[in-house]
Amino acid sequence: MRLLVTGGAGYVGGFSARRLLAAGHEVTVIDDLSEGHRGAVPEDVLEIMNLADTAGVTRILSERRIEGVLHFAASTYVGVSVEDPRRYYRNNVANSLSLLEAMLDAQVHRIVFSSTCATYGETASMPLDEGAPLNPGSPYAFSKMMIEQMIRDFSRAYGLRFALLRYFNAAGGASDGSHGEDHRPETHLIPLILQILLGKRDRLMVFGDDYSTPDGTCIRDYVHVEDLAGAHELAIEKTATGEPGGEAFNMGTGQGHSVLEVIRSVERVTGRKVPYEVKARRPGDTARLVASSEKAHRQLGWQLAYPELDQVVESAWEWHRQHLEGYGD
Ligand code: UDP
Repeated sequence: MRLLVTGGAGYVGGFSARRLLAAGHEVTVIDDLSEGHRGAVPEDVLEIMNLADTAGVTRILSERRIEGVLHFAASTYVGVSVEDPRRYYRNNVANSLSLLEAMLDAQVHRIVFSSTCATYGETASMPLDEGAPLNPGSPYAFSKMMIEQMIRDFSRAYGLRFALLRYFNAAGGASDGSHGEDHRPETHLIPLILQILLGKRDRLMVFGDDYSTPDGTCIRDYVHVEDLAGAHELAIEKTATGEPGGEAFNMGTGQGHSVLEVIRSVERVTGRKVPYEVKARRPGDTARLVASSEKAHRQLGWQLAYPELDQVVESAWEWHRQHLEGYGD
């Protein structure tokens, strides 16, 4: 298929773009490199462009006769979105509208959208299935929910076919250490711990040990980025058939791990001790977020290649120890 990947120089976007290329698809990546890295995708597929440029995006869609879009480009820091919501509604909501308009202009009718479990907010029942009520807790999460809604409305009115993939905690790297996570600043648990072991940070601050979980620390569902990439490949293929419309799918392993369990996994994999200190809770964190991905297994035929936390940590460790400066840009 001829595919456009927005944000394809970013973390999950990069893994997906490379996987689609390896599967034989013709891929064009659009990225403005505000967060992405040149080294994340082959140079000859990268177009440096911001999605606000509706005419530019329309031209690429038409000239390359694109058949489907995988939309990853977004600002993704929950905390920053609270401080600077303007940027989040501009980069995420307004630029997604621009992309959807370009798709209409160029008559491209298939989209897979990178959404988030953050749209669900607090809830009592776990694991979460797609029927759980949406209740975003930040401008970031609201922006993702609004884009989901735009896609649904465009689908009804203009016949788009879509899949909304709600990721839980994306983590891990390529098993040969060639690619991985490189956020500036880094805020995610697994890369932070690994950077401590590589001497780049002092110690981990564990954000709260008084949650209502067995060891008191927050529980998350860490899903391997290669498995997410696989889900995108299946999802874009699924949009080829059937009536216009589409659905949301949760993307997780179904297994929850506490912060202390992640620390122990890193210690097992690396054979090193992780220095940490318990601090106050981080505002906005919920005690437990675990996915039920039964629907994705059933309807997309999604299967996990990396179901165990130690596998996720092992691949992340390969990347981090081989790339002390990440992509180096
Ligand atoms: N966390 C932590 N210390 C850190 C960063 C994260 O204790 O320095 C915890 C955080 O409270 C959450 C989990 O690790 O429970 C995963 O956080 P991350 O930021 O990686 O992902 P999130 O779940 O917020 O999307």
